[in-house]
Amino acid sequence: MSPLVRKDDDPRNTLEELLQQSRIEELTSEHDGYEDVEPAHSSTAHDFNGHPFPGNHLQPARTQAKPPLPPWLQAATLGLFHEDLTTTTTQAQAKVTKECLPHLTGQDTSGFELNSHGLPHLRRTQHAAFLHAQFEPLPAPYVAIDASRPWFFYWVLSGLSALGEDINPYREPLIATVRPLQNPTGGFGGGHGQLSHCACSYATILALTIADALHVVDRRATWHWLGTLKQPDGGFRMAIGAEEDIRGAYCAMTMLTLLNLPLELPPDSLARTAGLTRFTDKLGEWISHCQTYEGGIAGAPTNEAHGAIPRYLDVPALLAWLAARQTQPEGGFQGRQEKLVDACYSHWVGGCWALITAALQQPPRNSAALWNRAALVRYLLTCCQQPGKKKGGMRDKPSTRPDAYHTLYSLAGLSHAQNVFTYNARAPTTGEGRSLAAFNWAARGPSKEEMRELGVDEEDLVNFVHPVFVIPMAAVERARQEFEDGTL
Ligand SMILES: [Zn+2]
Repeated sequence: MSPLVRKDDDPRNTLEELLQQSRIEELTSEHDGYEDVEPAHSSTAHDFNGHPFPGNHLQPARTQAKPPLPPWLQAATLGLFHEDLTTTTTQAQAKVTKECLPHLTGQDTSGFELNSHGLPHLRRTQHAAFLHAQFEPLPAPYVAIDASRPWFFYWVLSGLSALGEDINPYREPLIATVRPLQNPTGGFGGGHGQLSHCACSYATILALTIADALHVVDRRATWHWLGTLKQPDGGFRMAIGAEEDIRGAYCAMTMLTLLNLPLELPPDSLARTAGLTRFTDKLGEWISHCQTYEGGIAGAPTNEAHGAIPRYLDVPALLAWLAARQTQPEGGFQGRQEKLVDACYSHWVGGCWALITAALQQPPRNSAALWNRAALVRYLLTCCQQPGKKKGGMRDKPSTRPDAYHTLYSLAGLSHAQNVFTYNARAPTTGEGRSLAAFNWAARGPSKEEMRELGVDEEDLVNFVHPVFVIPMAAVERARQEFEDGTL
């Protein structure tokens, strides 16, 4: 299957072409930093101060000693953490630590070109090629996720944007593909003839926002459809007759905000029978019921806590829960207690730091005391990039394969760690019956000093990824302006 319908058969977009591009990249990096023997340089370079190898004095980075390991990877620290009890969980954890440590400590650099801090560079060319290739025909087993087609549009377009790639060539194919997925009663299905679903509609609307194509969305119908998902207890269902959970609340509020839809419930909404008049009525209370004794937030009341977002919450308990999700010694995040590190939680948990720092009304850099940004960057660059000169994409952990989902959320994790996001608490959160709260974010890149602490060079930086919408900041601002007058 091919997730996108193309209007043209542009040969520039074929996989063959992408592989050729990778080959060009491969040739330029032939003498990359991990080779022991350097080629001799010009004849004038050998007669200074008795240097034993001509030209080496011109390349200080290659002759310097390896940078020391950070404190959390030194032998004395590693020795502090051990489990006396052996269970399936501790065995699985020991296996993951064993597979990650050689990468984290630089013992195994997978042939990657290293930056000035001894960490692998972000392989942006390869990751971009991997993401572009997701829009080509995919292997047969992908038919099983045909109903998740819009997610590919979103993961790929958002990932490419984080890498600074031009996504404009995909705009028209995206519009042509998603138009038939929109139901006249509002919302998008995952494939042709499928019922509207919150997850697919969320992914489609984010992809359209990135591509500056929100005019495709029937906003009035979307508002009506979201009204049918709002429940008398304050939560949202994922689809008509489907489960009610916190994803529904997040997806619905994201769509209402980006499309600047009225917070007033449509007249025929079932939630009105319980006296509710707005989409936000009883929503905070409903979310507060999802917070568990552990401090985290579950998918629904009474379930187990899983990576998610705050308000109407026990914030200290949530903070403690979030902080405990960063794994030692890997430095990435796990999704739940006693689970393994996984790169996608670089966003699902890593993205919460900007939100909770704002909720605590702390200066954004204070979050440095709450989580270890450098450890997350090290995990993502050393363990989660697919090795191989022609290969790209990012993965859950070294023993897994890359995919578009983990590529986007790894890049988002890099953005959360590298950049600093601030929330303007003085800006209005509602206006003319619309939700404005999520538009109040600003971002700045790292200073030279912060880059040194993180272990990244200029070419390892990713673009700002919005902490709430997980799309480019500029696309969010464009959507805000597009529907500013609020007419439906
Ligand atoms: Zn994952």
